[in-house]
Amino acid sequence: MKLKPSDVSTVIIVNKNKEGSQTLQVKTKHIDRFKHYLLGVLAIITVLTLTVIYLGHQNQQQQEEKDRLVAQLTKLKGEVPPPDLEAKKASTAQGYIQSIEAKLQTINNYLKKRGLKGFSTKAVGGANEADAPKLTDSETYSMYDEYLNRLVHTVAFTPMGYPRVSSLTSYFGYRSDPFNTASAEFHPGIDFRGERGDDAKCTATGRVIFAGRFGGYGNCVRIAHANNFETLYGHLSRISVKVGQEVTVGQKIGEIGSTGHSTGNHLHYEVRHNGKAINPIKFLTLNN
Ligand SMILES: [Zn+2]
Repeated sequence: MKLKPSDVSTVIIVNKNKEGSQTLQVKTKHIDRFKHYLLGVLAIITVLTLTVIYLGHQNQQQQEEKDRLVAQLTKLKGEVPPPDLEAKKASTAQGYIQSIEAKLQTINNYLKKRGLKGFSTKAVGGANEADAPKLTDSETYSMYDEYLNRLVHTVAFTPMGYPRVSSLTSYFGYRSDPFNTASAEFHPGIDFRGERGDDAKCTATGRVIFAGRFGGYGNCVRIAHANNFETLYGHLSRISVKVGQEVTVGQKIGEIGSTGHSTGNHLHYEVRHNGKAINPIKFLTLNN
């Protein structure tokens, strides 16, 4: 079929160098349609572009909102620690405090059994003292610090431990007289095994109130301590301290011997409370 010239349009494709141009014969109605297609495609591209811009903007807004919330959350986290963690910390601290308090009470009871004052824990709000005033942590700690100071003081000035680390050869109380087995005698202290010249050490900080010969005790040292306690060391071969001298716990006060009413080298040790001899066994360790 032969096309009429009005039905046909000529499309010229021109190269840059304007050589070798080509011509195309296209039906005019196709070119009209092409214009419509082009407009349609342009419209679609425009709509898509606008959509992309809109979504991008929305996404940015959401990101900003998210950042804002994260920042707020971080700030809140910093201000308020998670409640369960805080409660756990508090209960752990409370547990430690109760444990410390229980041990202080144990030591306190040991001291009280020996006629010492110890201390009162009434002011401390323990688990069983609901009416006790609520103390801050630092108030509680400083109170325990004060208790410990009092304990340190009491322990340092209370006869405790061994004047000589060795086995016992004689105990406190009535025993047969080593010089006359037919009769009984009261032994007001305990005897420690030892060789002549071995050190005898004082069992608490105090002041020497006697140092010299004293009847059956032979060479004897007596030391006064706090809370009306006194210790006595007898049968010494040598005395290392003078009356009025301040001595500290563990200090050498003389050397073991067999002076006075004695059958051989040993250390005679007495603990007196309010002037009365008591069983020194109680003071060798704190927990008996
Ligand atoms: Zn003795």
